[in-house]
Amino acid sequence: MQNKSKPEFDVIVVGSGASGGWASKRLAEAGLKVALLEAGKPQSDRNFTEHKPEFELKYRNQANELLQKTRPIQSRFSCSEYNSDWFINDLEEPYTTPNDQPFLWMGRLRVTGGRTNVWGRVSLRFSDLDFKAASHDGYGEDWPLRYKDLEPYYDLVEKYVGVTGMSEGLEHLPDGQFQPPMPLTCQETIFRERSKAKLDRVVTLARSANLTRPVNGRGPCHYCGPCERGCMTHSYFNAAFTTVPDALRTGNCTIIHQAMVHKVLMDAGSNRATGVLYVDRDSKQTRELHARVVILCAQTQESTRVLLNSASREYPNGLANSSGVLGRYLTAHVRSGGGSGEFPSFGAQPTLGGPNKPVGIYVPRFRNLKNQPAAKNFLRGYGYEGESSLDFNWDATGFGDGFKKSLREPRSSLDITGFGEVLPRSENRVEIDSAVKDIFGIPVLRIHMADGENEKAMIKDMGESAGEMLEAAGAKNIKTYAHPSAPRWALHEAGTARMGSDPKKSVLNQFQQTHDVKNLFVMDASGFASNPCQNPTLTIMTLCVRSCDYLMGELKRGGI
Ligand SMILES: Cc1cc2nc3c(=O)[nH]c(=O)nc-3n(C[C@H](O)[C@H](O)[C@H](O)COP(=O)(O)OP(=O)(O)OC[C@H]3O[C@@H](n4cnc5c(N)ncnc54)[C@H](O)[C@@H]3O)c2cc1C
Ligand code: SF4
Repeated sequence: MQNKSKPEFDVIVVGSGASGGWASKRLAEAGLKVALLEAGKPQSDRNFTEHKPEFELKYRNQANELLQKTRPIQSRFSCSEYNSDWFINDLEEPYTTPNDQPFLWMGRLRVTGGRTNVWGRVSLRFSDLDFKAASHDGYGEDWPLRYKDLEPYYDLVEKYVGVTGMSEGLEHLPDGQFQPPMPLTCQETIFRERSKAKLDRVVTLARSANLTRPVNGRGPCHYCGPCERGCMTHSYFNAAFTTVPDALRTGNCTIIHQAMVHKVLMDAGSNRATGVLYVDRDSKQTRELHARVVILCAQTQESTRVLLNSASREYPNGLANSSGVLGRYLTAHVRSGGGSGEFPSFGAQPTLGGPNKPVGIYVPRFRNLKNQPAAKNFLRGYGYEGESSLDFNWDATGFGDGFKKSLREPRSSLDITGFGEVLPRSENRVEIDSAVKDIFGIPVLRIHMADGENEKAMIKDMGESAGEMLEAAGAKNIKTYAHPSAPRWALHEAGTARMGSDPKKSVLNQFQQTHDVKNLFVMDASGFASNPCQNPTLTIMTLCVRSCDYLMGELKRGGI
């Protein structure tokens, strides 16, 4: 029988991915008793297949139609025969959307480490142009913090994570604590040099959580390529083999797998969270766990789903939702404009044997910067992620020697894809669809997400500027695209429990503590007041560590 006046744990952390791993590590290393609840199964080096050839797989990685039977959404990106069992079964854990607003909620992992098992690892800082964007262009709300507040935490996180990168001295994309850069390819070098010379645009190595020097027993990357299948040398950052084991090693953290959290438990009298109710994935039994503090780190939509499902008489519209903004201001990058081109002058011969550099290039935002004329028809900006390839001429035709000769003709190309900021809008939101439940009996989310005029204009510009840059670099056979972004998919969702200094307009304060319930925190991207075009995860982890330090200070002071 649980003694509610003296819970077994100091803190419950829900979710073991990018944010939950850091929260568990930071708090357990400081001596707090942490229960880490993870809806999925344990991860292990034994599951990693980065060196396994396709011919060793049962279906040679060619049976996508089989994957689609259970994972019609997940199988569209990063989920393959190699790693599909890390992802949810879409039929068992669905979500709904209005018919005219398709949204692909991919990258839903159910395994220790969450999305960091398969992420693209691009790790970029935000700047005051992002945190104070509303002051800059008048749209939306500023974040309740500044770059200087986060800078020491960015340093701390980068040193531990290990980020390869090049310093560029840009105010709007601050440099960090980089490991030595991986080299650029010839195409990437030409693209960098000519973009600078002809358009004054920066092209840099994609700052990426892949090691080039050992860190804490993790080895440098050996360029095998498919990081989304795991990494036996632990050379990219994955919470499953970094933060979570660190937390467990302290002896202060207990991880409970297969624990699907349904709701936060409250003591209405004291207005305090007392713990969580979760469903054991195997037995389908419900269980309660109690602690002094609850921290949700389940990924943006999932954490907000827990809060919405925790509605009570005191909080009829969702827990900690006195502002009415819980679920609102969902954002996810648009990434449907870009281009590619060929660089036929390179004489190098392609090879099937690698090396396969797992890190490409990044073009930092160049629109709507300070001291620059504003773009005509959209606010904010976008960056490009890109990579080059040197491949065989797989389109070769014919027979015999002629075919072989043609096949060996190198195909050298470079492509770039825009990642653009989406303006936070109240009508882009998640709510509970009480008519649909997952296999645990937990009501699912209904996601409303549509592009506004700003996104449409930005996507068009992404396509045009990609063409301009490739042309400046001397590429041939340039192809550009600028599609409307529906169905939206970006894997960089943020918002839905935004932070702010005014409790009437926000759910969290700058330390990701709910305004309404002092011992309840949400430390993933739910709190982002906007979703700058830089990839979010470095900032998710950085905010989380800072908020944990605040939490520990408050516990010491008796403020929680
Ligand atoms: C293919 C892909 C590529 C990406 N590339 C990049 C990139 O290059 N750069 C970048 O910055 N970001 C990238 N991202 C995004 C990045 O992975 C996420 O921003 C980050 O992992 C989010 O961290 P999180 O802690 O919020 O959630 P996650 O890391 O997803 O962890 C959430 C965990 O919570 C668990 N959970 C969920 N619901 C519950 C529940 N109810 N009860 C208990 N546990 C629960 C899940 O099982 C999961 O393990 C990418 C994502 C994907 C999928
Ligand atoms: S490319 Fe590097 S980081 Fe990726 S799996 Fe191979 S060794 Fe690991």
